[in-house]
Amino acid sequence: MHIKELVLDNFKSFGRKTRIPFYEDFTTISGPNGSGKSNIIDAVLFALGLARTSGIRAEKLTDLIYNPGHADEDVDVSGDRQASVEVILANEDRTLERAQVVNAAGTEDVGDVDEIAIKRRVKETEDNYYSYYYINGRSVNLSDIQDLLAQAGVTPEGYNVVMQGDVTEIINMTPGSRREIIDEIAGVAQFDQKKADAFEE
Ligand code: ATP
Ligand code: MG
Repeated sequence: MHIKELVLDNFKSFGRKTRIPFYEDFTTISGPNGSGKSNIIDAVLFALGLARTSGIRAEKLTDLIYNPGHADEDVDVSGDRQASVEVILANEDRTLERAQVVNAAGTEDVGDVDEIAIKRRVKETEDNYYSYYYINGRSVNLSDIQDLLAQAGVTPEGYNVVMQGDVTEIINMTPGSRREIIDEIAGVAQFDQKKADAFEE
């Protein structure tokens, strides 16, 4: 499984719908300072529900919506504002196989397809804001996305994304804390938690 394509629409500095292709083994993104490289990583974390707003450099979710004030363009901002990010995953190898979406239209096996599109949308109205998640166009909860991605070892606690400063932090940790990270990556941590829960009962 790998990310095939990212579709950003009105997200952060991407005021226009932007499709970014990713290759199977290795993709690098280069560009001048402030051109939006880190915003692309923020987009992935946002769409997959892997980070708090602080982790994607925003105070609140609505800060992620493109703000024309950042640029000189004279853009009309009347009406509801919204942003969306779609992460298209190549699933030919069926890494993701056990997901179902249940809703009014019935039950659909999400995993049994070559391509899985996970999308998140944030919308701001005059007095509120809303966040929506979708798997292949079907409206779902964040927990559905987390269950799906956990099959590929992608979790909010996991070290799937190494952010700036993470390496320094890991170097400066105590051996015990470093061990916890290795347990997390190796998938042992979940059993430690289950064991602790069992002893408590
Ligand atoms: P560096 O090389 O310095 O790390 P970068 O390519 O990673 O730069 P980013 O941090 O991704 O750059 O992008 C920062 C830019 O995104 C800033 O110019 C900032 O004004 C802009 N930006 C952030 N949020 C928004 C928003 N909601 N609307 C418009 N522009 C935004
Ligand atoms: Mg950056």
